[in-house]
Amino acid sequence: MRIKLDRTLCDGFGICAKHAPDYFSLDDWGYAVLVGDGVIPEQDRAAVQRALLDCPVHAILEIAERRPDDPPPPSLAEPDLDNLRVDTGAAQWDMTR
Ligand code: SF4
Repeated sequence: MRIKLDRTLCDGFGICAKHAPDYFSLDDWGYAVLVGDGVIPEQDRAAVQRALLDCPVHAILEIAERRPDDPPPPSLAEPDLDNLRVDTGAAQWDMTR
């Protein structure tokens, strides 16, 4: 499991630090700080998952981990301009008095 903390969302309730004190601490103003690099070993997963679920502002996010045998992400191809669907309905502008 890998997590990330969005400190711009944190409202400083301190729930995360209560559930998983090894991974969250609170700064001088009571806002959460992620301890470590966000990689959570399996044995601590339940506590961190609880912190994630109980955070009232959803500031803790689980991020996907890529494994060496995962297929590469799809490349961003250029759009097929010959088959591009275009809406031909022009907007109607009308004056009302
Ligand atoms: S539980 Fe959420 S809002 Fe509360 S301190 Fe932790 S990250 Fe911030």
